[in-house]
Amino acid sequence: MTAELDELYQSIILDHNRRPKNFREMESATGHAEGVNPLCGDQIGVWVRVEGDRVADVSFRGQGCAISKASASMMTQAVMGKSRAEAERLFDDVRALVTGHAPAGDLGALKALSGVSKFPIRVKCASLAWHALKAALAGGGRVSTERAGAGPGASTNTAADERG
Ligand code: ZN
Repeated sequence: MTAELDELYQSIILDHNRRPKNFREMESATGHAEGVNPLCGDQIGVWVRVEGDRVADVSFRGQGCAISKASASMMTQAVMGKSRAEAERLFDDVRALVTGHAPAGDLGALKALSGVSKFPIRVKCASLAWHALKAALAGGGRVSTERAGAGPGASTNTAADERG
């Protein structure tokens, strides 16, 4: 990665951290999941409202490091209006990106998270909101990056396949 690109990505992350998008709780949610990353202390709650097959609304609330908040903020922007299948595909692509693999599709602004792959401890920060999203889409629950398969809808083998 060039230094310029690195800087651009950093500024995108810092900007989302300072002014997170869709940073609110949602009353009319069809699913809500809380994600915790004990290693870093990140706590991200994700709300979704699915209408038909579409993510009609998605929001998050919580606290954590810049990476976890920026990733959550970008997640809400990327997933808004998408179908369930598209949201799941984004989840897979982001997970590939942050673990240093090539994503299948073009991730746009989410590519700012690619630098995370160089810092294995940050991978959990970057993927936390996405695991919470997946759980929220499945109806809700609680996900922890420490325990694989925790809570309904949680992605399996989180700890194993994201250790780097
Ligand atoms: Zn973190």
